Amino acid sequence: MQAMTRRSFLKAGAATTATLAITKNLKMDFNVYAQDAKSAELIKIPSLCNGCSTYCGVWAYVKNGRLWKIEGNEVHMKSRGHLCARGHGIAQNVYNPGRITQPMKRVDNKNNFKPISWEEAFQEIGEKMQDIVEEYGGDKMVWACHGGKETYAKQFMDVIGSSTYITHYTTCFTAKTNIWSNMAGGMFYADFDNAKLMLFVGRNYAGGILPAAMKRITAAKEKGSKIIVVDPRFCELATIADEWIPIRPGTDLAFFLGLAHTLITEGLYNKEFVEEYVYGFDEFWMHNKDFDAEKAAAICGIGADKIREIARLLGENAPNAFLEPGYHGLAAHYQNSNEIMMMNVIINALIGNFWKKGGIFPAATSSLGAPEPTYYGPIAPEGVRADGAGVAGQYPLVEPSRGIPQRIPDMIEKGKARIVFFYSYNPLRSAPEPEYQKKIKNADLVVSIPYDWNETSYYTADYILPENHYLERAESPKVVNGHIYWPAAQIAARFKALQASDDSLALLDILKGITTAYGIENLYGYTVEEEMEAALAPLGISVKELQEKGCIELRPTVLPKEEGLSFNTFTKKIEFSIGAWRKEGYLGVPTWVPPLVVPREKNEFRLIHGKQPWHSHIMTTNNPYLMAITAEKNGTFMWMNSSRADELGIREGDLVTITSDIATKQINVHVTEGLHPECVWLPSTYGTFSEKLKLGYDKGINYNDFIPARVDEKTGHVMGQECIVTITKG
Ligand code: SF4
Repeated sequence: MQAMTRRSFLKAGAATTATLAITKNLKMDFNVYAQDAKSAELIKIPSLCNGCSTYCGVWAYVKNGRLWKIEGNEVHMKSRGHLCARGHGIAQNVYNPGRITQPMKRVDNKNNFKPISWEEAFQEIGEKMQDIVEEYGGDKMVWACHGGKETYAKQFMDVIGSSTYITHYTTCFTAKTNIWSNMAGGMFYADFDNAKLMLFVGRNYAGGILPAAMKRITAAKEKGSKIIVVDPRFCELATIADEWIPIRPGTDLAFFLGLAHTLITEGLYNKEFVEEYVYGFDEFWMHNKDFDAEKAAAICGIGADKIREIARLLGENAPNAFLEPGYHGLAAHYQNSNEIMMMNVIINALIGNFWKKGGIFPAATSSLGAPEPTYYGPIAPEGVRADGAGVAGQYPLVEPSRGIPQRIPDMIEKGKARIVFFYSYNPLRSAPEPEYQKKIKNADLVVSIPYDWNETSYYTADYILPENHYLERAESPKVVNGHIYWPAAQIAARFKALQASDDSLALLDILKGITTAYGIENLYGYTVEEEMEAALAPLGISVKELQEKGCIELRPTVLPKEEGLSFNTFTKKIEFSIGAWRKEGYLGVPTWVPPLVVPREKNEFRLIHGKQPWHSHIMTTNNPYLMAITAEKNGTFMWMNSSRADELGIREGDLVTITSDIATKQINVHVTEGLHPECVWLPSTYGTFSEKLKLGYDKGINYNDFIPARVDEKTGHVMGQECIVTITKG
C-alpha cells in the first residue's frame, strides 16, 4: 500500500483556470477588502449553484480572490439570468464559520472529535476498510448520497464488489420517476410557454423554486394562460393562480379519478391518441368506470361540479394544456402516491398532449465522453444489494438506481452493511425517525463527506472528511436538462472561482486518497482538466469555450410533433397497465387506494410539509442570511386553519404541543384561512439538532421527527405525510 502525501493530492487535484487570479487572504476583514477592491479587476467565472438539485447556471464575480457577487447565467435553461434567495445564500456559505475546516476523527461516544491530517485519515480509513472487506466482503459497503457524482462512487464500488449505491430520492420523488418510467418510458416535462391551461396539483414552483420556470409561468399567464392550483395550502404558486382549490390532503387520487371519469364519459378525451398510443385503456376503464365525479367529490372535498368544470377545461384546451407531472409533495408521501403518479400519466395521455405545444415533452439529451480507464487490477464479483432494491423477494419493483436510504440502520443491524459512506447527505435530519437513524453509528466504519457539521456526521461518523465549497472546485461538465421542457440539451460545468479557504478537498481528491490507501492503484488516474476535455471531446467543444460561455446550448432535438410518437416501453405505447406490477401479482392499473391514516378526533390533524422559497429543506438552516429571513417572517411557525384553531382556543403565535405515535414537540402557530382544516403544515427546513450548527440549532421542529421510517413496497418511498398528530395548546 502506498500512502499519498497531501502535496501530491493537492497537485493531482489542482483544477485551475487560466484566468484565475487569487492573491488575497480570504479571511481579510470585509471593510478592508471592500476598500482595497474598489479598483481591483472583476473576474467572471462560471459555475453551477449547489443550493438544490436544479443546479442553476451561475456567474461568480471575484475581486482580489474574494467572492464579490453571483448572478444567474443568462443561457442556462434553469436560471435564464436569475437565481433564487437560496442560491445567493449558499454562495455566501463559502465564508460561513459553520463549515468543517479540516478532517476530523471521532474520539469517543459523546460526539467529541479531534482534527486529523488528510494522510492519517486516508491511511486509517484504508486500513479499516481492508480489515472489514477481508472478513465480510466488499458487498458490505454502502454509498449513500444526495444524488450525483455516481461515476466516482461506482468506480470504487465496482472494484470492491458493492452494488448498494443509495440516493435520497425515496424521501423526495421515487413514485414519480418509477411510474413515469414504467408507463411512458421516462419523464416528461411541461411546456409553460405555450399552454392555455396549466393545472398544478401538489406542485409549488414558487416554493421549491426553479427561477426560469417561474419566469415562464408568469409570462404565460400574462399572455392569457389560465392557472389552477390544487393544494391543501395556499402555497406561493397559488398567489398568482386564477384559482386555488384546497383539497383534502391524501385524496388527490380521488380527484384524478374523477377528472378521468368526466373526460371519458363526456367524450372529452382524445380517442385517436388513445387508440394509437395507449395500451391498457380498456383494463383501466373496466376497473374505474364507477368512479365518477360525485364519488370523487365525497372523498376529496372538491365539489363534483368543480371537478367536472376542471375536466372540461382540460378537454377544451387540449392539447395545449397539462396536468403538471408533480414532485416531492405527492411523489413520495402517501400510501397512494404510486397510483397518484399513474393517474398523472393517464390524464395527460387522455388529453393527448405528449409532444404538443403547451403540453408535455421528454428531456432533450446528449452524451458526454469519459477519460480512458486507468485501473486494470482485479474486480470483485458484484454483491447483492443490502437494501433489497430491485431484488427478487425483497423490493423487486424499487429502482436500484435510487435505493432505499431510510433502511440503512436495518441493513447495519442485520450485518448487510458494515462500511457506510455518506456523501453530501444527512439522513439523520432528512429521513424519517431520527432516533432510529442514529443507529447508523453501529456500523463498523462510517465516513461522512459533508460541507458542514450536519447531524449524520456529528452523531454517527467515525471520520468526517470536509468537501470544499462548490465555488472552490472545478467539476466535469453536466448535460443540463429535465425539470422543465426545453427543446435543446445544454452543457455546463463548474470552474474553480475561489481558492479553498481551509483544509478541504474535492470529492475526486478524497476518493483518490482513500482508494490509494486501501490499495487500489490508479483508480482515478486523471485530473479534472482531463476529465473535462474527455467529456467535451465528442461534442467538439473546448474547455476554454465552455469557460468563456458558462453554458452552451446544443441544437434542438425535442420539438412538437403530430405523428410517429414512440415511447420507451415494452409496447412502445403509454402503458395504462404496468406489466412489471402484473408480473409481481399486483393489479396493473390504478384504482382507488385510501390514505393510510385519517384524522378523526377534534384535536387530530394530518401533518403535511413543504419547502419555503428561501430555504432548501435542511441544507440551509445554518446560513445567516437565509435564517435572517426566517426570523423576519416567523418562518418556523406551524400553519393551522383558523376555524380549527378557534375550536381549540389557539391564537396566532401561541405555543402548542404536537404529538404523534413516536414524538412530542412544541412549536408556535401561524393561524390562517389558507390551509385545509384537516391538516397542519410544517416548513421542511427546521429542527436542526447538531449542536455544531449554531445558527440553526434547536430552531423550529421537523416533520421527520414525527413519522416512522416506513418503506412503500412498490417504489420504496417513505409515505412522509401519512402521519396523524394531536395538537394541544401550551
Ligand atoms: S433554484 Fe435556487 S438554490 Fe436551486 S440551483 Fe437554482 S439558484 Fe440554486
